[in-house]
Amino acid sequence: MITFVPGPHLLDSPRGRAWPAVPGTGPRGAAGPPPATARVAVVGAGPAGLAVAAALWHLGIEDVVLLDRDGRPCGRFFERVDILGQRVLRSPYEHHPGAEGHRDCELLDFARLNWSRLTPVERREIRMAQSGHRSVVPVDVFEAYCAHVAHLHHVDRNLRRAEVTAVRPAEDHVTVHGPDFALTAEHVVLCLGEERRPAPAAWWPEGVVPPGVGHWDEPVPEDARSVTVVGGGLSAAHLLANALRDGRQVHWILRASEERYQCADVNASFFRAEGRARFDGTAWEDRLALMRGHRRASVMFEFRPLLEEAEQKGQLTVHRGRAVTAIAPGRAGRTVVRLDDGGAVPADHVVLALGTTVSTGERLLPPGVVAPRDGWPDLDERTLAYRNAPRVSAVGAAACMVLGPAARNIDGHRVATARVAGAIAARLSGAPVEAERPAERTAARV
Ligand SMILES: Cc1cc2nc3c(=O)[nH]c(=O)nc-3n(C[C@H](O)[C@H](O)[C@H](O)COP(=O)(O)OP(=O)(O)OC[C@H]3O[C@@H](n4cnc5c(N)ncnc54)[C@H](O)[C@@H]3O)c2cc1C
Repeated sequence: MITFVPGPHLLDSPRGRAWPAVPGTGPRGAAGPPPATARVAVVGAGPAGLAVAAALWHLGIEDVVLLDRDGRPCGRFFERVDILGQRVLRSPYEHHPGAEGHRDCELLDFARLNWSRLTPVERREIRMAQSGHRSVVPVDVFEAYCAHVAHLHHVDRNLRRAEVTAVRPAEDHVTVHGPDFALTAEHVVLCLGEERRPAPAAWWPEGVVPPGVGHWDEPVPEDARSVTVVGGGLSAAHLLANALRDGRQVHWILRASEERYQCADVNASFFRAEGRARFDGTAWEDRLALMRGHRRASVMFEFRPLLEEAEQKGQLTVHRGRAVTAIAPGRAGRTVVRLDDGGAVPADHVVLALGTTVSTGERLLPPGVVAPRDGWPDLDERTLAYRNAPRVSAVGAAACMVLGPAARNIDGHRVATARVAGAIAARLSGAPVEAERPAERTAARV
């Protein structure tokens, strides 16, 4: 039997190419402070916020303001992938933050329009996508596409750099507060994304992170000759690959008994209706079990040859099936990771790649609104509005218990957006919005 292992060269797309604006896009506007009012305010301008704004534009709702602390579309997303040195997306060409049902220019079309700027490997991936196979999308192309979508749907004009500190829903409006502004909107969509998952408090007994410990979204010090990476996902894989490329001695601490290699981090069925149907009206415990089973850390196949070769050569030591119990300063300025088998791994620098936690809106909304159950917000399944604040809705990872694990990914945002933007447009036009029937809600939550 031949095992299919795609080549590591797929990971090496160039970054930082110049992309011309696509004809037909409108004028760019100057960003200022947030206005006092808007029909819709979108908090967070990552891929989710971008999808929401694009969909609202197609529905004729133009008085939309996006508020993001980074002040540029998908700023945090590209900051994170660039710090990891990630050159290609994990999601294929079909997954993009354009508007569902409006084929103005999808990611694949955009890449084809820029054919002359692509490498032969990238062109081959486009052909793979065209013939229905798995494809690898360059981050460079995706960034240019996001800029295109933002420009086309007036997102760059409507985006304000602003930190939102509170969202206060009322009967007929919602007020969004920042340190120096207050904006009143008829509807608010929270597209907050995910935060870095903190390490268990027990890892450092004094409650203070020891020196020599960093996180996946922080740079690794250049003078570190040895690096320990903790975690089993794609961020860990990038950190390992970077450290190996730089000639460092590397340890990999993996709680699972072996590495998991797979193309996508979510089973492909969850991007389709039949996968989402597994969440539709299903008992809460069953959804929790699905989420647990389908959000396990894994690494793109392309890393496999590199990591296996480094292990054989002795540059990489993999501690499989080992859990971290503590991290503490060691001798000669090194940092020691202690393992549950009594082992100790010293290195110049330790990087924690422990994944992310979902932003549910709890930090912004008043107590009692989010009403989390097992950490997930209480959302209306048809409109993704908070049941306790119907003028505020959520798109992104917060919607996982309604739409399944793909809600965290770029394509899931489009599906969530179609529900949210449709419901908001209906409300703004005065049409009644079909809410969940109480009996169904009970059935879904028993
Ligand atoms: C390294 C990495 C690679 C990934 N690769 C892929 C991939 O290839 N394909 C895929 O489908 N998914 C991928 N993901 C998952 C990815 O995070 C999501 O698909 C996508 O970024 C989520 O978009 P989002 O808009 O929900 O969140 P984000 O991209 O995190 O955007 C949220 C935005 O909201 C802003 N924000 C949050 N709170 C506030 C506040 N209070 N005030 C103002 N602004 C605020 C943040 O600053 C941020 O800009 C990857 C994730 C990571 C970390």
